[in-house]
Amino acid sequence: MTDTLADSRTSSRFFTEGVPVVVEDVRRRSTTEREELLADPGFGRYFTDHMFVARYRVGEGWYDARLTQYGPLQMDPGTAALHYAQSIFEGLKAYAQPDGSVATFRPEANAARFVRGAKRLAMPPVPESAFLSAVDALVDADRDWVPTGPDQTLYLRPYQLASEAFLGVRPAHEYLFLVIASPAGAYFPRGVQPVSVYLSEDYIRAAPGGTGDVKCAGNYAASLLAQEQAIDAGCDQVVWLDAVEKKYVEEMGGMNLFFVLGSGDDAELVTPELTGTLLPGITRDSLIALARDLGHRVSERKVSVEEWRSGVADGSVSETFACGTAAVITPVGEVKARTGDFTVGDGTPGPLTMRLREALLDIQHGRVADTHGWLHRVS
Ligand SMILES: *Cc1c(COP(=O)(O)O)cnc(C)c1O
Repeated sequence: MTDTLADSRTSSRFFTEGVPVVVEDVRRRSTTEREELLADPGFGRYFTDHMFVARYRVGEGWYDARLTQYGPLQMDPGTAALHYAQSIFEGLKAYAQPDGSVATFRPEANAARFVRGAKRLAMPPVPESAFLSAVDALVDADRDWVPTGPDQTLYLRPYQLASEAFLGVRPAHEYLFLVIASPAGAYFPRGVQPVSVYLSEDYIRAAPGGTGDVKCAGNYAASLLAQEQAIDAGCDQVVWLDAVEKKYVEEMGGMNLFFVLGSGDDAELVTPELTGTLLPGITRDSLIALARDLGHRVSERKVSVEEWRSGVADGSVSETFACGTAAVITPVGEVKARTGDFTVGDGTPGPLTMRLREALLDIQHGRVADTHGWLHRVS
């Protein structure tokens, strides 16, 4: 056994003031093994050599920040997060740049959202600068794992959980903050395919005053049955309606939605407004800016199922797409509902959908100028 402490070194990087990031020597997979995995990484199946871990205890604050061997966590069976889901996560990506460097996309926005999520779940927030330094440290250590194939990325998953072994229902006194990384292949390796969606009339994702506007783990557990129902109905994804009137379209699975009204240069984009029950996506926010750059009007307002259906019928709604970090932009083709099915446009990806998708991917992969300053160079 090697003594990891003896092998570890303190990097020049700090997690929080007075808490340096300790870098341990880890077993790295061989170049051959890594290249085999990167040839067809899929999504979320393989993990890099390192992980970032920091601990928090009430009275002590954040301590013991380290880059360590990726591997199982040892947990007490009484760990609070396992019982009461006091747990949040983030998702962002690192992109290989044409000049050989590596950049993440708007990580400050993920850091800020992570703070909001922590507060909503009564957890001590990870300071935004600490979040950024942890993500940078991991990407830097595992930069050989950033794939360079077309539209390939390194998906980063920061998360925080209540690690105190205690069964009382109250905010825990101890937490873990981790970042893991997983190489991701192109989402549509054989060309962009529209998805079919099922309007969920039985289940809701988020209610006013709930946790729908933060990425807390429990939201996703509660969504799985509706997603299974969508699959059983022959669809790819579930579309969520508002919890109160079951009238307005909110999101698709774990992605935000956009509707294109009209066509050509005059096309207008509409996306459901952030009422507190939608997750404020960073992709959504970026696409609003990019669409405006291209000269399109964008409005954030409520969109009812009826407006969607009748707009598709009379041709005024020409395209619909969903967006999020993992899949970037996914066109929506078929819509199934108890109140009747319909097809958006001719069921193929629309022109503005594809133009915005290219525009965003071009920035993320460094193929065009980053005029908004969204890329954060890591190494
Ligand atoms: C993460 C997520 C999104 C997309 O957010 P991005 O920041 O664009 O990745 C949308 N809806 C839900 C429910 C999500 O969890």
